[in-house]
Amino acid sequence: MNTIGERWQAIMAQIAAAEAQAGRAPDAVTLLAVSKAHPAQSIRSAYALGQQHFGENYLQEALQKQQELHDLAITWHFIGPIQSNKTQPIATHFDWVHGIDRSKIADRLNAARPEDAPALQVCIQLNISDESSKSGVNAEEALALAQHIATLPRLRLRGLMAIPAPTADPLQQRAQFHAVRQVFEQLQGQGHAVDTLSMGMSEDFPAAIQEGATIVRVGSAIFGARTYPKDSASST
Ligand SMILES: *Cc1c(COP(=O)(O)O)cnc(C)c1O
Repeated sequence: MNTIGERWQAIMAQIAAAEAQAGRAPDAVTLLAVSKAHPAQSIRSAYALGQQHFGENYLQEALQKQQELHDLAITWHFIGPIQSNKTQPIATHFDWVHGIDRSKIADRLNAARPEDAPALQVCIQLNISDESSKSGVNAEEALALAQHIATLPRLRLRGLMAIPAPTADPLQQRAQFHAVRQVFEQLQGQGHAVDTLSMGMSEDFPAAIQEGATIVRVGSAIFGARTYPKDSASST
């Protein structure tokens, strides 16, 4: 049985190989370790190896682990769906929020971000495969939402996040990530200083790196299969 350490090393090596294959700089890609459903002790183990960024989907679960890990200088990313009644704690306890898909959520996060903290780093969630997932905006909406976020002083728009429809076909994976990248380039063309493409998970991160991902969000390939029941996962 592999340990978190062995799996983490293997993922880091795969990221480096994909960067080289794509002709990208070493360290062009940041590994975001997705620790939902895994205990604080697993996060502590990965942190001890040098893992800095951790992603959580469910607020209550995340807050509990943050308390247990308050002695570590972790960068916390909220990557789950954002309910408007949870924006205050999310704006207070996270460094990044990846799933912004409407201006109301952006407004509420902006209003709740504490004055003594740096601006909240945010990504707009783009939905390029329309039916397969309910969350995320289309390209046109993403451009409008970016204009709006640019007016909010406590948010800093970093780029786009996407969860394409799962497929085992690497060509199809690349085509989907390519579509995200095109919208990202449109954002840049409109003058937004965006630098982040958050795309790629355990099953498809090498393809995402080929298409320019700067953050890959990898969970099960590091921590193992998630075991908690679907029901408890959906209740925050
Ligand atoms: C759970 C999750 C991941 C990680 O998924 P794995 O397949 O375990 O790597 C990445 N991004 C988001 C938004 C997630 O919810």
